Amino acid sequence: MNAFLGYANTLTIYNLTNFQLSHHPTRLQFSNFGIFQSFNTYLCPVENQKIDIRKLSLTELEEYFLANGEKKFRAKQVYDWLWNKSLKNFDDMSNISLSTREMLKENFIINHIQVDLMQHSSDGTIKNAVKLFDDKIVESVLIPTTKRITACVSSQVGCSLDCNFCATARLKRMRNLTPGEIYDQVVAIKEEAETYFQRPLTNIVFMGMGEPLLNYANVIEAIDKITSPEGLGMAPRRITLSTVGVTKMIRKMADDEVKFNLAVSLHSAINETRSRLMPINDSNPVEELGEALKYWYQKTKRKVTYEYVIWDGINDDEKHARALAKFCKIIPSKVNLIQYNPIDEGEFRQAKQEAVDMYVRILEQNGIIAKVRKSRGQDIDAACGQLANKNEVAQLNNI
Ligand code: SAH
Repeated sequence: MNAFLGYANTLTIYNLTNFQLSHHPTRLQFSNFGIFQSFNTYLCPVENQKIDIRKLSLTELEEYFLANGEKKFRAKQVYDWLWNKSLKNFDDMSNISLSTREMLKENFIINHIQVDLMQHSSDGTIKNAVKLFDDKIVESVLIPTTKRITACVSSQVGCSLDCNFCATARLKRMRNLTPGEIYDQVVAIKEEAETYFQRPLTNIVFMGMGEPLLNYANVIEAIDKITSPEGLGMAPRRITLSTVGVTKMIRKMADDEVKFNLAVSLHSAINETRSRLMPINDSNPVEELGEALKYWYQKTKRKVTYEYVIWDGINDDEKHARALAKFCKIIPSKVNLIQYNPIDEGEFRQAKQEAVDMYVRILEQNGIIAKVRKSRGQDIDAACGQLANKNEVAQLNNI
């Protein structure tokens, strides 16, 4: 029983989900982990299944190298190839000996993403359809402006949240992306920024497919890699995580004292309307969201951005605008009024210009900064809420 508990705890700590307990020594030994030595057991890959090497931390990789008679600093070199240089093949690791590369190839794989299809919008936006190791597809978007190049990345395949106005919701959630898969999307867009715009990537937003706070651990690990000198060395203040408003996780992020920015998809500060738009509001109502955001601000002292679409006949009246202005006073915040991107012939239509002007006026009267955001990449279905693997779906249906 104790042995079982010890094993389970170690697995949790090291998050080596592909490993299985084996009483038979195998090539892949982590004998330096005391816990495995004492129970005379070894970690080994599930039969016929190699381990994604990027699931190992640097310390774990060093343990592996030492346990297999290699020098510790070689692990750091491999780690550098994997993350900083984003290498896809062990064979390209030119400062690693042939025998070490062979050993790595026998035990590990690199589950790198592949950009399956790249589409260019007339406004310069680029959309990548990204193929994952299990052939699933997610989309990510490069958004160029005069000052910035922003990568909009996905955190899940599909989404479980059922926001009625969002195309991704139609896909349902299939699985969480790994830290490597999130990181690779950023690397792909960074390379495209350099190739097509001769400019560096400046910002990253988690506003692609999925809900980042429902894949928290992997998103945080990806951000750690994106911001660390061993990865891309980007400043956390250039990263924005956008959430539907999972209050428990907003509090967790505050406790973790994260250094990136937070955006909340609000769309209404009135429960009845918000629940109609976003069913998550039933379990995370507006008042609770306000409390969680107060907690966030107390801990991080960071402003929040509210994303808000104004729809014709849904939230385009003064009552809704005033409720938003009141909500915005809970903590320092600003509002992005996003244009609605039609996803089908459904019930939602962008509000008239007068309604948008009315919102801006009421927010400004209340001292709140509001920006009206034009949508980008609509012609290639790359705008907010349009990411739905349309080309893949069309292929599946032979359209
Ligand atoms: N799950 C996260 C991130 C993904 S959606 C979140 O909800 O914040 C990114 C943004 O696009 C959100 O603000 C979302 O509300 C918005 N959005 C979704 N569908 C849209 C549409 N059809 N038109 C405009 N914005 C949309």
